[in-house]
This record gives sequence, C-alpha cells and structure tokens, in this order.
Amino acid sequence: MTALRLSDAQAAELAALGEAAWPREACALLIGDAGLRVSEIVPAANVSTDPEREFELDPAMHIATLRRLRESGGTNLIIGHWHSHPNGRDEPSAKDAAMVSDPGLVWLITAVHDGRALPLRAFRAIQQGDGFGFTPLMIEQD
Ligand SMILES: [Zn+2]
Repeated sequence: MTALRLSDAQAAELAALGEAAWPREACALLIGDAGLRVSEIVPAANVSTDPEREFELDPAMHIATLRRLRESGGTNLIIGHWHSHPNGRDEPSAKDAAMVSDPGLVWLITAVHDGRALPLRAFRAIQQGDGFGFTPLMIEQD
C-alpha cells in the first residue's frame, strides 16, 4: 500500500505554518515523486475571501510552480496540497469534497485547535459516484 512519505522537518514546517496562520486556513503545494515522497513544500497564500472557513491556493503560485517543475526537467511533480483546519476536524470537509477536481491528488490536513497544530492526516481524492470523495492515506514520517 502506498503511503505519503515526509521528513520530521517537513511535518514541523507544516505545523508551524498552520499555527502561524490560525485562525485562518493556511495552504501549501506538495512537490514529490510518483512514490509519494515529498521533496518540497511550497507555502502559498490563501486567497479565499473567507480564509477562516476555506482556502484557495494562490493561482499565480500554482502556475509558477508548474512552470518551474517543467523547466527543471526532473521527475518531481505536484502530488497534492496541504491545508489547515482552524478549530476544525482533521479530515476533509464537505466543502473540500466539493472542491476536488483532480482525483489521485494527496490532501494533507492539519487541524489547529486554539493555535496548536494536531498531527497531520493524509487522504487521497477518489472518484465516488458522480462526485468525489476521500480515502485515508498512511503517512510514513522519517
Ligand atoms: Zn478543508
């Protein structure tokens, strides 16, 4: 079974980003290889007009990252993204499910309660009936 693999330092970076943004949602792109090893975290501005309840990755950052990866000619790609849930649950919300446009992407989530990050949880978007759902993904941290 495939697991998302990331380092302790990367997990700590995401916890810090989530705590710094609280009570707003923070978000970042996850760069990695086809084996779901995270090689880089790219923090992105949350450009949502309602950032305490939802996130919208800065599209300019998304495009710039895609271009940089293509020009580098390597095998790394955007494998998914991370966002925080201020005072929320550590799993995708109904709003998240409505946002899925690309099944297969990793959805990494940190719930942040009263400014303190809870452990990371990972999911993968999957096709479900006419829409999309999520399936849990193991995390291997080293
Ligand atoms: Zn969410």
